[in-house]
Amino acid sequence: MTPLFLPQLVNDPFGDPAVYLQIRHEKTAVLFDLGDLSRLPTRKLMKIDYIFVSHCHMDHFIGFDRLLRCVLGRQKNLHIFGPPGILHHVQGKLAGYTWNLVENYPLSLTVSEIQADQQTLTSQTLLCRDGFRETALQTSSFSDHTILSTTNFSVQAVILDHKIPCAAYSFQEPFHLNFRREVLEKQGWARGPWLTELRKALRRGLPEDTGFTVSGKTYTLKELKDLLIIITPGQKIGYVTDIHAGSRNFNRVAAILDGCDILFCEAAFLDDDCQKAEQTCHLTASQAGRLAREARAKKLVLFHFSPKNHGRQSLYYQEASRTFSGLIS
Ligand SMILES: [Zn+2]
Ligand SMILES: [Zn+2]
Repeated sequence: MTPLFLPQLVNDPFGDPAVYLQIRHEKTAVLFDLGDLSRLPTRKLMKIDYIFVSHCHMDHFIGFDRLLRCVLGRQKNLHIFGPPGILHHVQGKLAGYTWNLVENYPLSLTVSEIQADQQTLTSQTLLCRDGFRETALQTSSFSDHTILSTTNFSVQAVILDHKIPCAAYSFQEPFHLNFRREVLEKQGWARGPWLTELRKALRRGLPEDTGFTVSGKTYTLKELKDLLIIITPGQKIGYVTDIHAGSRNFNRVAAILDGCDILFCEAAFLDDDCQKAEQTCHLTASQAGRLAREARAKKLVLFHFSPKNHGRQSLYYQEASRTFSGLIS
C-alpha cells in the first residue's frame, strides 16, 4: 500500500516541535505546531493549508511569522485550529506589524478555537486586504471530537492539561484506495493523472453511474471501482505534545488515538527526570511509550527532547521500548 499521508518532523528531536504532513497526489499539506520552521523550504511552506496548534508556548508558535511572511501575497485561505486562546495569540502576532499597502493581497486566515466541552468551534476570518481587522465570531458545532472533515481526511481533537489547555490531534484518511496493478497491465492502461482524478471522484462519493473515460472508452464509476479498486482502512496519524502524564489526559486522548499507524509524541525527559516532567507537565520517554501502547499505535516517533540530554539520545529509544513494543524512531 502506498500511503497517502507523508508526515515528518521538521526539526531533529531536540529542535522545536512541528510535523509537516504532505498529502500525496494533492498540492496541499498540513502542519502540526508552528515551532521554528526555518528548515522548511518556501515551496513546502506554500503548500500548507491547515495548521493544528497544540498551544502557544513559544517553541510551538514562533514559526507563525515565517509562514505568514511566505504566503502573504498569495491567494490562499489558511486555516488555523488551536485550543481556547489561539485567536488572541494570532491577533497579537498580527498586531505586531503595520498593515497598509496590502489592499490587493487576497490572503485570508480562518482561526478556530476548539471548545471541547461544548463541542463547538469559535472561528474568525481575518482578511489581509483589511489589515487583518477583527471580524464577527462564527460558532459551529461538531461531534465525536471531529473538528474538520474533507474528502481526503478528517481531524479529531481533544483538549488536555499542560497547566494550560493543550490540544492533541488525530488525522485520519477515511479509507484507502489501491489500484489493482494487474488490471492496469491487462487493460493496457498507462498510469497518469486520470488515476488521481478517479481517486478524487471516488473519495467525493460521486454517484456510481457517473461516467468516467479511460483510454477513449467511457465506464461508470461502479464498473471501474469493481474492476480496478481495492479499498483498505485509511491511515491514522496522532500528534500529542506537552501534556501531564496523568490518567485524565491519557484516558481523554485515547479516545482519538486508538489504532493509529504513527503516533508523534513528545518525550521531553528521561526517567531520571520524572519529577521535572511531573512539575512541567511533560512526558518522559517511558510515559510516551505507555501512551503509544495504550493507543495501540503501530509506530511511535519521539520528539521535543530536553537540550540537557544532548548526547543521550539513544536512551530515549531504550526507555520508550521498555513500555512499547512497536516501532520507535
Ligand atoms: Zn508547552
Ligand atoms: Zn513545548
